Parts: sequence; structure tokens; C-alpha cells
Amino acid sequence: MDESRKQIIIVGGGPVGTLTALFLGRKGFKVDLYEARPDIRLDDNTAGRSISLTLSLRGMTALKYAGIDKKIENLGVPMYSGYFHSKNGMCYEIPYETGGEHCLLSISRLELNRQLLTEAEKSENVKIHFGHKLIKCDTLHPSVIFKTSEAEEYKTADILIGCDGAHSAVRRQMLKGRIDYSQTYIDLGYKEFRIPPTKKQDFALAPHHVHFWPRNKVMLAAFPNIDKSFTCTLTMPFAMYASVVTGDDVIHFFQDNFAELIPMIGELTLRSSFFNTPPLSLISIKCSSFHCGKTLIIGDAAHAMAIFSGQGLNSGLEDALILDRLLDNFAFDISQILPKFSEVRVSPAHAAVDLSLYNYKVLGSQARKPWFILRRKIENFLHSRFPSVFAGRISLIHFTTVPYDKAQKMMEKQEKLIESSMGIVGGFMFASIVYILYRTTKRLSAV
Ligand SMILES: Cc1cc2nc3c(=O)[nH]c(=O)nc-3n(C[C@H](O)[C@H](O)[C@H](O)COP(=O)(O)OP(=O)(O)OC[C@H]3O[C@@H](n4cnc5c(N)ncnc54)[C@H](O)[C@@H]3O)c2cc1C
Repeated sequence: MDESRKQIIIVGGGPVGTLTALFLGRKGFKVDLYEARPDIRLDDNTAGRSISLTLSLRGMTALKYAGIDKKIENLGVPMYSGYFHSKNGMCYEIPYETGGEHCLLSISRLELNRQLLTEAEKSENVKIHFGHKLIKCDTLHPSVIFKTSEAEEYKTADILIGCDGAHSAVRRQMLKGRIDYSQTYIDLGYKEFRIPPTKKQDFALAPHHVHFWPRNKVMLAAFPNIDKSFTCTLTMPFAMYASVVTGDDVIHFFQDNFAELIPMIGELTLRSSFFNTPPLSLISIKCSSFHCGKTLIIGDAAHAMAIFSGQGLNSGLEDALILDRLLDNFAFDISQILPKFSEVRVSPAHAAVDLSLYNYKVLGSQARKPWFILRRKIENFLHSRFPSVFAGRISLIHFTTVPYDKAQKMMEKQEKLIESSMGIVGGFMFASIVYILYRTTKRLSAV
């Protein structure tokens, strides 16, 4: 049988599932993609449920390979730095890179997903079936049962790919094989708010930055949208949400933490929108393998991660690209490709999950401290002077495609280097102060 004519079922029409369908369709595979929800391009109820995402080099490289990077860029706003707002009204900016060569793209997940669906459907090999929820599957001899509004449908395929997100039904079935698995809920919930454009139809905040309001365990981040609004994501412990129960509580909470945002969002809107949805959970997932039999999981289904390094989707899109490359390298031989995928992707995925949690600690509690700013400036300086040997934490995560596990090791080494250089500079300054004091005392005693 011509390997490329194999029948593939993809479960989940999120961004990762649709990009994977696009790649596989181009290679000549017969792809049926099943999505539980209705078509988000037709359904207006999905508006307002979108989250803002940042795409960085890993995700953009995959989109470029698909030939759709320019279209996606037009849907987003480039951001060149993190802009930190402290409680006392002081602000400081940390550029992502000194040269400003790279940027992050702020984009709505909904718009990205809509565009990817349209692009995937252009291939005559890809068929998308909406309103099909997977309820059962066999991962060894791929077969699936979907529930639709009318009936249950039974399908078989040569390969099954689960792109069905953090609570993946495909993964649940796969775990019956010999796969270790762990999931961790962090004690933080998130909510979203919108800062509308100003009356003059302009951005309410400087547009080309991610804005952060770090308040220890509470963090608010704002991402620009192309309609000149901002999407704010508030993360804080569930126990703190429980103490905000009335509209007045919301206003007091904002007055204490983010007073400047009240007029931008509008007091009335804030009072009501805070309670529109309950705070949503953040989960991290690690699996010891991403394949079992003739089934593969990718994207959040394989390695959901907390949002703090902005890599969940980027790593999922990278998965799709790596699968595509393995198909070429192993001449479409699935018996080799699926194990190889686990071999090359599991360890980086675990590192990405850990990096994301580490970033939460950094952003929440350390970002306000002067030594943190100094440290980031030293990183930027070293990267601008010695780009081939020093990349820095932010660059390694966002602006390279170095596998996350390798990047993590490089970061550890570089952090040690920065700490010792800061120690040397600190020691030198301390010695200078002692020397000046000594000389001054000596001169005074001679008078
Ligand atoms: C607040 C927030 C901010 C984030 N910010 C960033 C960021 O800045 N950068 C970044 O890279 N990532 C970010 N992420 C993570 C990113 O959203 C996810 O990593 C990404 O959406 C994963 O894509 P996916 O296609 O694997 O899964 P999903 O987007 O979850 O899509 C899964 C799809 O599968 C469908 N499905 C589920 N179950 C079934 C079933 N049984 N049958 C059929 N279909 C099913 C779902 O309806 C859905 O369409 C953020 C996440 C959150 C919550």
C-alpha cells in the first residue's frame, strides 16, 4: 500500500489538530478531522470566549512552513517588550532583545483557529466533521466512536492522532497501555477582561508590549488586539477569588492592585464582567510516551502547561512540524515515526512544563525586584555582544527553536554565569566603598 494514502483520523480541531491536518493532507494522506464543537467560523456564540495568545518563533516557524505565516501575522499585533507596572505607579520596560530584531505576536486563539480551519480545508485530502465528539477509541487497532446530535458513528483508520486538548479522551484511552502520567493543577484560576479602545478609537495602553501588573500571588497581563482593544488575563489563587463576592469587592480589589485600569475598563463593566464566568483552572500534564500502538497524541493532549511562558500552543504547533519532518525522514513508515516522535518530544515537553511553572515564580514575585531588572539587562547586553554563545532565558524560549530540555540546561549554566558576574560586580563595588570610606576616615583623622 502506498504509505501516503493511509487513512488518518485526527480528533480535535483546535489550532494543533488543524495544522496537523493541513500538513498531512499536503503529504497525500486521507485525513478526517473530527471536532466536538460546531464550526467556530459560523458560530457567533464563541465570540468573547477567545483567549489572547502570544506566538513566538517556534509557532511561527511551523506556520511559515505551512506557508501561512503572513496571513497569521496580519491577524495579530507585534510586541517588542514586557512593560511592568508597579503598585506605586512606576513603570519599566524590558525589551525582549536589545536589537529589537524579534518580537512576539499577540493573537486571538479564535481567529487563529478560524484561519487554520480554512487553510486545512483547502486540501482535497482533508475533511472536517464538526459536532463529532469522541466517546470511545481503540488505540492499538485504531477505531473510534463519535457522538453526534443524531447518532453514534463508528470509524476505523490506519492511524489515530489525538489533538483533543488538555482533557484528551484519546490520552485517557492510551494510558491503559504502559504509559506513566502525571497531572498537576496549580492553585491559580484565571479570568479575562477586555480593555476597549479609547473614545478616539486608539489603544488605551502603549500597544507593542505585553503589559504586566505583578502583585506577588496576583498577576494581571494585558495583550493588544488588532481592534485596538486589550485582553487582560488575571491569575490569582482560588481562595482570593472566593473573597471577591460583590461588585464593590471587585472595585476595591482593583483599586488596591490595578487602579489605573478601572477607568479604562469602565467601573460598570468591571462590576458585571468579573462574575460572567467562574475562574478557570490551569493544568500541567506530563506523559512518559506520546504514542501507543498506532495512536499518537500531540499539543495540549500530550503536554498541557501553565500559561506563564506562553509556550503551550507554540510547542503544539512545533509538534505538528516535527511530525511532518519525521514523515519525510522515515519515508512515511509509521512503525518508526511514532516511537521516534516520543523519543524526540517527551523530554523537551517535560522541560517546557517546568519552565512555565518557573516563569510564574519569576513573573509573580521577582519581576518587581531591582536585581531582576538588572539581571535581564545583563542578559540582553551579553546576548547583543555575544549572540552565538549567549542567548538568555527569554531568547532561548521565545526566539530559538532549541529543544526546551537543551534550552533549560543552557539557561541553568547562563544563570550561574550571570549570578557570578553580578557577585563580582557587587564585590568590586563593595570593596570600592570600603576603600573610599577607609581613605576618607584616614584623611579626617590626619586633620
Ligand atoms: C489563558 C490562556 C493563555 C494562554 N496563552 C498562551 C500563549 O500566550 N502562548 C501559547 O503558546 N499558548 C498559550 N496558551 C495555551 C494554548 O491555548 C494551548 O496550548 C493551545 O490552545 C493548545 O492547542 P490544542 O489544539 O492542542 O488544544 P485545544 O486548543 O484545547 O483544542 C482541542 C480541541 O479538541 C476538541 N475536543 C476536545 N475533546 C474532544 C472530543 N472528545 N472529541 C472531539 N473533539 C474534542 C476541542 O473542542 C478543541 O477544539 C494559553 C492558554 C490559556 C488558557
